Formats: sequence, C-alpha cells, structure tokens
Amino acid sequence: MASINPYTLRCSDCGTRNRIPAAKVGAAARCGKCGSAIDTRVLNDGRPRMVSDTNFEAEVIRSPLPVLAFFWAPWCSTCLKTMPIIDRFAGETRGRLRIAKVNVDKAQRVSDHYDIRAVPYIYVFDNGRALDNLPGAVDEAQLKYRLARYL
Ligand SMILES: [Zn+2]
Repeated sequence: MASINPYTLRCSDCGTRNRIPAAKVGAAARCGKCGSAIDTRVLNDGRPRMVSDTNFEAEVIRSPLPVLAFFWAPWCSTCLKTMPIIDRFAGETRGRLRIAKVNVDKAQRVSDHYDIRAVPYIYVFDNGRALDNLPGAVDEAQLKYRLARYL
C-alpha cells in the first residue's frame, strides 16, 4: 500500500518496533534497543507462509510484521474460493503484513489452542498476541477495512 512511510519491523528477540527507511530494505539492520539482527529482506517478500504446528511459533508468534493467519482446510470449498483473495491481499500488503496459511489438518495443536471450530477463520496477530478475528468467508473490501489499522 502507501510506501511513503518507513517500514516497521519488530525485533524477534525483544519485540521492539524498529523503523526501516525504504532505502535500507534488504540491507543488514540491528534492533535499536537490544542490538539483535533484523532481517529486512522479509519486506521484499509478499508470498504467504505455509504454517503448521511445527513453525507456528517462528512464523506467527515471533513474526517481525503483524500476521493475518488464514485457518483453512483442503476439503473446505469456501476456503478454496477465498484463497485467491488472500493471495492477492498478500501481494498488496507486502512489507506491512505477513500472511500465514494455516492448514488446520496440519496444525491441530494450534487450531485447538485458538479454538478454531469452523473454517475459514482469520486471526490477526501482532507481537505474539491474537488481537482480532474474522470468522467465515471474507471479501477483499472486508479485509482492507478490518486490517487497515495494522498496515
Ligand atoms: Zn531487540
């Protein structure tokens, strides 16, 4: 979306938000508070992450960007219809938001933890916490409206 503002990346060690000027995207960076390395290359990567029980912690809880976690299942037709909307949104929000596709069949522990009883189901995470949820089917306008405060 608007790329006039500097990007912000959360340090995965201390959680501090660090401003990353557009000119520094792709370069080595360090957290201004704790000095840990920050990988600015994620700002160039607009592809959704495939997330299961094994990488949920790394990809979602410790994400440097806010995360839209799309809980879905391959046997859910509404999920499959929603998938292209999610993919498009991932491209549009590159550098501002991480999109995580959580296949509930491969993430049963996580799905139980967040009490996912039906799919599709979207949770929004930031700094390791679930801050917002959108149950059921969504369209692009709803995503833009509900996620605007995180972008
Ligand atoms: Zn830090």
